[in-house]
Amino acid sequence: MNLHEYQGKEILNSFGVRIQRGIVAQNAQEAVAAAKQLTSETGTSWHVIKAQVHAGGRGKGGGVKLAKNLREVEEIAGQIIGMDLVTPQTSAEGKRVHQVLVAEDVYYPGESETSEFYVSVLLNRGTGRNMIMYSTEGGMDIETVAEETPHLIFTEEVDPAVGLMPFQARRVAFNLGLSGLAFKEMTKFVTNLYTAYVKSDSSLFEINPVLKTSDNKIMAVDAKVTIDDNALYRHKNYVDLRDVREESAIEVEAGELGLNYVDLDGNVGCMVNGAGLAMATMDLIKQAGGEPANFLDVGGTADAARVEAAFKIILKDPAVKAILINIFGGIVRCDRVAQGVIDAYKNMGNINVPIIVRLQGTNADIAKELIDNSGLDVMSATEFQEAADKVQQVLA
Ligand code: GDP
Ligand code: MN
Repeated sequence: MNLHEYQGKEILNSFGVRIQRGIVAQNAQEAVAAAKQLTSETGTSWHVIKAQVHAGGRGKGGGVKLAKNLREVEEIAGQIIGMDLVTPQTSAEGKRVHQVLVAEDVYYPGESETSEFYVSVLLNRGTGRNMIMYSTEGGMDIETVAEETPHLIFTEEVDPAVGLMPFQARRVAFNLGLSGLAFKEMTKFVTNLYTAYVKSDSSLFEINPVLKTSDNKIMAVDAKVTIDDNALYRHKNYVDLRDVREESAIEVEAGELGLNYVDLDGNVGCMVNGAGLAMATMDLIKQAGGEPANFLDVGGTADAARVEAAFKIILKDPAVKAILINIFGGIVRCDRVAQGVIDAYKNMGNINVPIIVRLQGTNADIAKELIDNSGLDVMSATEFQEAADKVQQVLA
C-alpha cells in the first residue's frame, strides 16, 4: 500500500524521525489556516505548498511551490488543488490533485549551507536482507545518479539477527561527508528511520531529499512510504490511510472481488490460475506477438461466478482484443472451469472479443469437449503452443 507524503511523514515522526512539519489541506481556505498555525508553531512565514498524489517528481511538474506570504499560500494552493499534475512518473493525463501539504520552509539561510541527501530503506532481494541505500546526490532522480555517477551511491546491509549497528549509522553519516552536530543528527536520523521501517512493516522508505538545514538539523523533506499489504493486519491504524482515488479503478474493483489483478498496457486479456502460470502466459503472449493487457490470477476456485467476475474485469479495459484463459486443473477440475466459462459467457451475452481457452490437468479432455460442443465462439486448446498459435491467429 502506497501512502501520501504527509501520511508517510506522520509515520516517520511517530518513530522519532525528524520531519519538515506540515498540515494537509483540502482547499485554499484550509491551506491559509494551516499556514497560520504553522507560523505560530515554528515562527516561519514562508511555506511550501506540495501536491499530495502518489507519484514522484512533483516538483518538476509544478506540484511543489514556495509561498512567501498568506496571499501566495491561498493563490498557489487554489491553483494546485484540482489540477491534473503531470510528472515524469505519471501518465500524460496526469493525476488529479485533491489535497496539498502546507509545510514550513526549511531551506532558510543560516550559519552553514543547506545540503540535500538521498536515503532509502528497502529489501535487497539478492541477499534477503534489508539495506539502507544513500547518496550525497539528494534531490535528484536516483535512477540518473545510478546511471551517471554510481560511485556516489552507498549501501549498508543490515544483519536481521542484530539489527542496524551503531557503527553502521556512523558510517552513513561519515560517507555523507558530515561532521559535528550534523554527523550526530544523521546517525540518530538513520537509526530511527531503520527502526520505523521495521516496526511499521514497510517494504520501501525513500526519503529524497533528506535535508541538512543551515543550523545543522537533519530532517525528511519528502517521504515515499510503502507498507507491506500482507502485514496490514498488524497495523489496524494504517488501514484507513489507503486512498483509493490514487489507485487504478479496475484494480480496486478486482481487489474487492478477491481477484489478483494488475492492469497493463497490452491488448490480450489473461485469465490464469496461479501467479507462476500467469507469468508464463504473459511470456507466451509476447512470443506470439501480442502484449498482455493484464495480469490476472483467479486463484484456486475458478467457478462460474469467479470466471464471470474475471471476464467483466478484463472487458472493462477497452484495449483488450482477445482473451486467453489458461487454467491448470490440479485441485479444481477442468470440466468445472469449462462449465464456468460457458455459463459466464452465456450470462454475459455479447462478448465481442475472441476467447481462447486452454485447460490442462484433471478432466482436460472432458473440458475440451464441453467447450467444443457449447456452440459458443470460444476456441479450445490443450497445449501451450497451440494456445499461442491461436492467439496469434486472432490478432493477425
Ligand atoms: P518531489 O518533486 O515529488 O520529489 O517532491 P519533494 O518533496 O522532494 O520536493 C521537491 C523539491 O522542492 C525538493 O527537492 C526541494 O528542493 C524543494 N523544497 C521542498 N521543501 C522546500 C522548502 O521548505 N523550501 C524550499 N525553498 N524548497 C523546498
Ligand atoms: Mn522528492
